[in-house]
Parts: sequence; structure tokens; C-alpha cells
Amino acid sequence: MELRDYIRNIPDFPKPGIQFKDITPLLKSPDAFREVVEAIAHYCTTVAVDAIAGIDARGFLLAGALAYKLRKPLIPVRKEGKLPFLTNKVTYELEYGNDTIEVHQDAFTNGQNVVIVDDLLATGGTMAATARLIETSGARVAAMIVLIELMDLNGRDLLEGYSLHSLMQV
Ligand code: AMP
Repeated sequence: MELRDYIRNIPDFPKPGIQFKDITPLLKSPDAFREVVEAIAHYCTTVAVDAIAGIDARGFLLAGALAYKLRKPLIPVRKEGKLPFLTNKVTYELEYGNDTIEVHQDAFTNGQNVVIVDDLLATGGTMAATARLIETSGARVAAMIVLIELMDLNGRDLLEGYSLHSLMQV
């Protein structure tokens, strides 16, 4: 199966100049979605995994399936203001302005090995901030996994020292 065939390119979304990688065709195909989850789970056999962190919002879709399959705790990393309990926060810079992500203060236990899952790596800013958030929460980043890596943006360079795995490089 060619997984790329299940990613739809949407020009100028959500703003001019951005080519959005729409994964809904993949999610709609049980075989393609299953292949992705199996591939990620297979990669996880090569690293220590105590918990899965999913990045808001499309990362949740992959992280949820993975956590279920591996029988591991699932931790949502959310945009500011969405989590109801006490949180740890990290603010990071975007091209214009900045963004804040949060996790619950009791999300991780000290020294836990956490695998971060997201749909896509662009500049790497969101992934780097998530790693910082996990580390300031007392846990360790065991691996970073994305479905799609946008090679032109060199996001990987921002994540030096971490183990980053992408299923698709475009
Ligand atoms: P970045 O922090 O620049 O690596 O951006 C990664 C985050 O933004 C991920 O959570 C993606 O879901 C989202 N994202 C960034 N660029 C795109 C794109 N071209 N298509 C779909 N999602 C994107």
C-alpha cells in the first residue's frame, strides 16, 4: 500500500502559501490507518516506552490508537486553556507571535520514557516545545514519531539529540 496516496494536499490552507497535508483520507481508510498504527507500534518495539504523548489535535488520533495497542498511558499535550486540572506550560515562538502548550501536572511520573506522536513535522517548533514540556514535567523523551516529515523545513535540525522517526518524508 502506498500511504502517500492517502494524504491530500490542500493549497493555501489555513493561510496563503501553506500547503496543508490533510490526513482525513487516510483516517477514512481502515486499511491505511491500520498500516500506520502498526508501523508506529513496530517502531516502538525498538525503544523503551512507558507512556504515549499525543500532540493537539491530529496527534491525538494516532497516539490514541497506539496507546490502546501498546496498553500504555495516553497523555494529551494540549493548546493553552483546554485542560481542566493544574498544568505545566511551555511557550514557544511561531513565525508570527507565540503559542503555549500544556499538560496536567500529574500526567507523567518521574523518569518515565515518553514517546511523542504527531501527524506532521514542519519547523519542529511544536515537537521541540513538547519535548521541553515533558522534560520539565520530570519525564524523558524516548522517541518522537510523526506520520509526515516536511523535508524542506529542516525541522529535524531543531531536534538534535532526540530520536525522530517519520513514516513519510515529503
Ligand atoms: P511545526 O511546529 O512547524 O513543526 O508544525 C507542526 C504542527 O503544525 C503539527 O502539529 C501539524 O499538525 C501542524 N502543521 C504544520 N504544518 C502543517 C501542514 N503543512 N499540514 C498539516 N499540518 C501542519
